[in-house]
Amino acid sequence: MSEQITRWIEGSVASNTHWTPNLFSLRIAADVAPFKAGQYTALALDIAGERVAEPYSILSSPGTSPLEFFFHTPIDGQLSSALGRLKEGDRVWVQQTPEGRFTLDQVPDGQDLWLLATGTGVSPFLSLLRTPQPWERFGNIVLVYAVRHWHDIAYHALIEQLRSRHGERFTFIPFVSREKVESTVHGHIPASISSGTLERVAGRSFAPERSRFMLCGNPGMVQDALAALQQRGFVRSVEGRTGHITLEAYW
Ligand SMILES: Cc1cc2nc3c(=O)[nH]c(=O)nc-3n(C[C@H](O)[C@H](O)[C@H](O)COP(=O)(O)OP(=O)(O)OC[C@H]3O[C@@H](n4cnc5c(N)ncnc54)[C@H](O)[C@@H]3O)c2cc1C
Repeated sequence: MSEQITRWIEGSVASNTHWTPNLFSLRIAADVAPFKAGQYTALALDIAGERVAEPYSILSSPGTSPLEFFFHTPIDGQLSSALGRLKEGDRVWVQQTPEGRFTLDQVPDGQDLWLLATGTGVSPFLSLLRTPQPWERFGNIVLVYAVRHWHDIAYHALIEQLRSRHGERFTFIPFVSREKVESTVHGHIPASISSGTLERVAGRSFAPERSRFMLCGNPGMVQDALAALQQRGFVRSVEGRTGHITLEAYW
């Protein structure tokens, strides 16, 4: 997060949906400044007299209300556990101005947009996919959503809506690493890039002139997928230089 002084506003919890014992989504009514799909804002609670804050990607799309966020509660995760106990009407601090550079502005034009996520790293992509911009700028979009167990996949209904709205232009590929499930890829994203499995399952091959990648979530996946893509000749976008790969690591 940036060093700027955070301006906190009070948000009100509109709903708390628990998907599994350690996955939940909050909808929060809060008057935040305009944001772009892919950005995050900080949420905070006052715990034992101290304001505890962490950044969270916004899953809802710009211009819609309330804001929506999708959380994983790591064992003993202080803030996420406390957020998970919030009920409708409870108050939560929200950073008034969302921020972050994990947006489509950082991605040059191309033909195929590959969105690679682990767990809650799918949030910025679910925000982005409900805006017109990626569909105006790319011919095909592949969403890869990697989890340990099948029940960890959330937002099935939203993904189905995207499928029916965009037809063959949208490919959804769930990865499940700890159990074998029909119609999913058993394994991890980086290995599937190196082995060619991801291209085979998607029915599209990677090529620097047409493929663009956004990676989000577990830093192990992000780093290893970056390395696997670099091996294939792709270049990361860094400040002042636009490449094929844009990324956001969550810890
Ligand atoms: C830009 C950005 C956006 C983020 N967006 C989200 C989001 O949309 N949803 C979300 O749940 N988290 C998100 N995070 C992570 C979040 O900010 C916190 O780190 C997380 O909620 C853990 O905080 P805690 O106080 O509960 O636990 P801590 O005690 O601070 O963390 C415990 C450990 O949990 C693990 N961990 C952290 N986040 C996750 C996660 N998402 N999934 C699995 N394990 C994790 C790490 O190993 C971490 O060291 C984001 C982080 C960044 C930098």
